[in-house]
Amino acid sequence: MTEVVTRFAPSPTGLMHLGNVRTALLNWLYARKLGGRFLLRFEDTDASRSEAEFVEALKQDLQWLGLDWDGEALFQSQHAGQHQDALDALAEKGLAYRCFCTETQLGLDRKLATSRGLPPRYSGKCRKLSKDEALEKSKTEPFVWRLAIHAQEGEVHVPDTLRGDVVFARRDLDDPVVVRSDGSFTFLLPNAIDDAVDGITHALRGDDHLTNSAYQVWLLQALDLNVPMYLHHGLLLGEDGAKLSKRTGSHSVKELRESGLIAEALVQAMTRLGHPNIADDAFDIAALLAAFDAEHISRSSVKWSNEDMWRWHTRLLHHLDAAVLLPLLQVHLPTANLDFTSLIAGNLERAEDVLHYQYLLDASVPFNDDAQAIVNSAAEGFYTTALQLWQTMDNCDWKVWMNAVKEETGCKGKALFMPLRVALSGALHGPDMSSIVNFLGKEGVSVRLQHVLKP
Ligand code: GLU
Repeated sequence: MTEVVTRFAPSPTGLMHLGNVRTALLNWLYARKLGGRFLLRFEDTDASRSEAEFVEALKQDLQWLGLDWDGEALFQSQHAGQHQDALDALAEKGLAYRCFCTETQLGLDRKLATSRGLPPRYSGKCRKLSKDEALEKSKTEPFVWRLAIHAQEGEVHVPDTLRGDVVFARRDLDDPVVVRSDGSFTFLLPNAIDDAVDGITHALRGDDHLTNSAYQVWLLQALDLNVPMYLHHGLLLGEDGAKLSKRTGSHSVKELRESGLIAEALVQAMTRLGHPNIADDAFDIAALLAAFDAEHISRSSVKWSNEDMWRWHTRLLHHLDAAVLLPLLQVHLPTANLDFTSLIAGNLERAEDVLHYQYLLDASVPFNDDAQAIVNSAAEGFYTTALQLWQTMDNCDWKVWMNAVKEETGCKGKALFMPLRVALSGALHGPDMSSIVNFLGKEGVSVRLQHVLKP
């Protein structure tokens, strides 16, 4: 069997968004699962919009996500010669032709077709020009290049992992533009030629590309080039079922990274979309890969859920080693240390929640209103008694101490527990009290009790 080669082929015209992540991830999973190669190719032929800054940003986002690519990143612009050769070969065979129709003319043709209830296809007018006529005209008039695909007879078969062969009648296909009037190539030809040149065996992409695939299969076959196996996955939609946008909760990867998200949370949530057979406990990437099966990817569109992603974030956060978690917490609280991290890890949903527990490190951090209200509600003399008892105790045992306070003050239940919890931890919820007491030690507990005793 030939080695599987997939690719992620973004145009470097913007930041990586969730739709890109899905396509990149599926191609990566497919290659890695089958021991193949995953290539990164920047489709940078639209020179006016491509920017080096986005090339770097896209690379950085892929690295952060752990989607490593094989070899150097490729640039479509480096294959310009091959794109031109392909066009020349097609023109030579009469399969590509110059079209001189103006935008106004095309607009009128479209209107006419629509008014007759026909699809707005190109009329085929310039296809009738002879090569010589077209060449002569091209000396004085602007033109685009089209592929001569539309025909009354014949079919194009797009091989698709999820759908089998998708059959297009050529009568339903248009003559697509492959070179614009400024001489630049549209997406269709370079993308297909590069897949052939780069030896891509499998192209996984959104099903909005299905018709493009029909054009590209035709083009590759016309040039006797290898046609990859396609996998057109259902599109990723926003939470409201509409196209994914900022409004519906789509963020750039950069934004998510900067908000402290654990990259694997995005990978976990994204891999599971439209792929329901992955067990919930497939926790690490190796387990995800083992469970990944391209044939299970949904052909229907799938809805993004930020909530699911953040739920994964919390689950993963709870599974991180304290040493790995510590730097994430230090972004928000530089004084965090390893013991402190182990103590509170289970109580965090997000890294920034660490701020709720600052008081465990520094007794001078003021209480919030709720915590202060609990301290104020403690019975008369409660903290004085608690401190005296604590100071007479030999060992720092929470249960023994709490029972002694209960006995001495007559307080029980919440009236006993909450004033102690808040006095020691500064928060209404958090790690269990034995762990807090162990962490603070004799001195730490005393300092905090003295602190709440001050008016
Ligand atoms: N540059 C194309 C895009 O970003 C690539 C599509 C494909 O995967 O073939 O849509």
